[in-house]
Amino acid sequence: MNTFQELGLNQDLLQAITDMGFETPSDVQAQAIPILLDQDTDLVALAQTGTGKTAAFGFPMLQKIQIDSRTTQGLILSPTRELCLQITNELKQYGKYCKGLNVVAIYGGASITEQARDVKKGAQIIVATPGRMKDMISRRLVDISKIEYAVLDEADEMLNMGFYEDITDILSHTPEEKNTWLFSATMPKEVATIAKKFMSNPVEITVGHKNVGSDQVSHEYYLVNARDRYSALKRLADANPDIFSVIFCRTKRDTQKVAEKLIEDGYSAGALHGDLSQNQRDLVMKSFRNKQIQMLVATDVAARGIDVDDITHVINYQLPDEIETYTHRSGRTGRAGKTGVSMVIVSKSEVRKIKSIERIIKKNFEKKDIPDGMEICEVQLMSLANKIHNTEINHEIDKYLDSINQLFEDTSKDELIKKFFSVEFTRFFNYYQKSQNLNISGDVSGDRPGDSGDNTRYFINVGRKDGYDWMKLKDFLKDVLELGRDDVFKVDVKESFSFFTTESKLQEKVLAFFTDFKHDGRFVNVEVSEDKGRGTSRGKRRRDGGSKRRRDDKPRGERRSGSRSGDSGDRRSRRSSEGAPKPRRSENRTSTSSSRPRRSRR
Ligand code: ADP
Ligand code: MG
Repeated sequence: MNTFQELGLNQDLLQAITDMGFETPSDVQAQAIPILLDQDTDLVALAQTGTGKTAAFGFPMLQKIQIDSRTTQGLILSPTRELCLQITNELKQYGKYCKGLNVVAIYGGASITEQARDVKKGAQIIVATPGRMKDMISRRLVDISKIEYAVLDEADEMLNMGFYEDITDILSHTPEEKNTWLFSATMPKEVATIAKKFMSNPVEITVGHKNVGSDQVSHEYYLVNARDRYSALKRLADANPDIFSVIFCRTKRDTQKVAEKLIEDGYSAGALHGDLSQNQRDLVMKSFRNKQIQMLVATDVAARGIDVDDITHVINYQLPDEIETYTHRSGRTGRAGKTGVSMVIVSKSEVRKIKSIERIIKKNFEKKDIPDGMEICEVQLMSLANKIHNTEINHEIDKYLDSINQLFEDTSKDELIKKFFSVEFTRFFNYYQKSQNLNISGDVSGDRPGDSGDNTRYFINVGRKDGYDWMKLKDFLKDVLELGRDDVFKVDVKESFSFFTTESKLQEKVLAFFTDFKHDGRFVNVEVSEDKGRGTSRGKRRRDGGSKRRRDDKPRGERRSGSRSGDSGDRRSRRSSEGAPKPRRSENRTSTSSSRPRRSRR
């Protein structure tokens, strides 16, 4: 690794660097500083928070500006007042031996006249939030017409906060020939658009996030008996109808086996490992990219370099030997500004490893329960209902309507809905009605509140598409209900709805609050979920554990599902290796994909 001397920084800056105790440049600094010092170029740099981006643009800017001039030459836009002040302070420290340097912070909530006065004294560098900057420009309190370097710091965050127009407006007051340097932790479409619009041939650098996991990824683990791994995997898939995932296995053999079983059970899955020919691998990857494959089962080696952006879940079917491998795996999701979930299925003997991973990735895992059968049925049902609700009508069916109407002449709307949904629901219901609880006890982080108490599980009609992940939803619920940190738990966010649990004594309060609650202009609806089984997480206290469910203590393979339901016998599918109907991937996003016709195989 280079030293700061080797990057080409001048003596004043090097002295300050020594004073601050920086010994070696960080990756983004080592990459960006020489480029920015040597070339007059635009730059796009992607690096996680805390990687030293301020110095990466700060040092070159300080070295390149004329300090003996009083003209404003550098403008740094940053999303918040805090960041603005932080950057200003850092720059002042970096430039403490640069005599005559004036860095001024401009942000809302403080006296605009005072800030204007500071600028007037001759600020070579202005660090500003977009809102206040725009304000000052329109009042002619600043002149940025001679800017040579513009920095968009935390560009993704600024755009998230709705500053697109302000940024555009501000930059329109700067000269064409300036250099623009954009720094961002992620590269969502909006950032790419900005880069395209305001920059010409930018040099691009990306800094991998070492061992520290992305902020966009939440980590969960599920503790099951080793022999239930596969059943657990299926439930996780069924509980997430829109899943688009990579499933990691340790060996080629397991990879192949799991993929084959999934395919046999009716999922759109594929295997990716080194025993396949290049051609086969290309085909699998192509289907995955097209979303014809929802679940890609892969070895670590084969999955290296999978650059598919919208993977929703990474599932660790088995934990890797090396913890660093876990970081690579989980980094397959939560890309391009999206959130993702990394799930780990662990058996008791591996659960210690979770703690070591937590230490290294500096993130906590949430221990979650494998959803029980009725919850999955509910998820599937609601997901179907949402899908139907959002479906565009295909008027090709108009010509058949007469005969269909005739057939249902005597059927009420209510009855029709029930019948319609039963088509899907019964398949899952038959499969899962006698399913057993796969969770076993044992925890690395101690018992959660409510695990021993009487709990209520709720359904809420907001989900991932409303911008929630489990952390955000938990925060939201905590805030509006004015509850404590641990009062809301087992928050499980799906695409368009979610579940959460509180102790039952809070039920009245929760339901009362949400009877007439609007958020962002829409009614937020909360209902008690029928799925009582999730109220407790430990097998010994199953409230739904009546005699009806006992039967599945039998060895798997002997389980007979659906055998009692006469009305849908024709619909029952072939038995899988587990002796159960295959849940069809009813929520596949590509309705034309290869998983669709599979129904006819039965
Ligand atoms: P980012 O903008 O990427 O989130 P910052 O520029 O705020 O990161 O830097 C994070 C912290 O690391 C700051 O406290 C900064 O002083 C410190 N830092 C930056 N570069 C180095 C370095 N080369 N060596 C040691 N500490 C550094
Ligand atoms: Mg920063």
